[in-house]
Amino acid sequence: MLPHEPPRTPPTGFLYFPPFRIQGYSIAGEETAIQVPELDVCFDIGRCPRLALNSNNIALTHGHMDHAAGLAYYFSQRHFQGMGTGTVLCHPSLEKPIHNLMAAWIDIEAQRTPYKVIPLDPDQKNAPNEFEVKNTIFCRAFSTIHTVPSLGFALIEKRSKLKEEYVGLPQPKLVELKESGQDITYIKEIPLVTFMGDTSPGEHFDRPEVTDAQVLITECTFLERDHRDRARIGRHLHLSDIVSLLPQLNNEAIVLTHLSRRTFIGDARDAIRNAIPEDQQPRIHLLMDSRTNRARYDQQCSEAAAEAN
Ligand SMILES: [Zn+2]
Ligand SMILES: [Zn+2]
Repeated sequence: MLPHEPPRTPPTGFLYFPPFRIQGYSIAGEETAIQVPELDVCFDIGRCPRLALNSNNIALTHGHMDHAAGLAYYFSQRHFQGMGTGTVLCHPSLEKPIHNLMAAWIDIEAQRTPYKVIPLDPDQKNAPNEFEVKNTIFCRAFSTIHTVPSLGFALIEKRSKLKEEYVGLPQPKLVELKESGQDITYIKEIPLVTFMGDTSPGEHFDRPEVTDAQVLITECTFLERDHRDRARIGRHLHLSDIVSLLPQLNNEAIVLTHLSRRTFIGDARDAIRNAIPEDQQPRIHLLMDSRTNRARYDQQCSEAAAEAN
């Protein structure tokens, strides 16, 4: 009798909502690392999957091991592969522990790895609450509710727009106004992709960066009807929370992540079909449902090919 093969790692979750790719892994208690290449950010680092190395910025929601374990390895590989110094954006309470972590590695490895820690303070008391990750794209931190200090992150584009009263004026007139010291523009904020790390429901779901982001990635750890208590105790979301939030969420796509590891994808699909109103189902996605997501991507590819012809 031959021995069994070792278990295979699940394929990388992948969804495309033009112009954004949402890709990575997320299984509660094991690993969460979800990258948006177009925004140069990876939300949490998990065990540092290979793809995460390409992000210059890690937006770390909280310190639980399944979200943070790969941090030192991320910094080290970035340096080792000549990719420049990696940056982590984190809750102010994690700044010192991360320095301690990296100091411990100096003792273990007998070498020093360059890294950058940028604390983001959701209350803007001791640090700003946002950081420019790319030209005009800002990563803004806000508080969420979990068993440890925790953040959500919104990637926001800030566009400079002409104030309404000046729209239609000829260019020389605008230049004249500007030179006379008039403030003729304002900043319009466009929330692009927002990420909820581990969290209970709460007021953070009412923020415009959450309700109006093009893509909302949110945890949904529990789906089974009798697991609501578990969700409450662990400060997590249950599918029923998502259902109650849906009317206020204007997102084009809502990506559910951080399913408990005992949940089979087929059961998760069924739970969503049963709990979510039919007209809302097309905008609900499961990051780790590789079969459904592959079929969706194949469809997007054939539509793009048809358009090109
Ligand atoms: Zn977690
Ligand atoms: Zn957690």
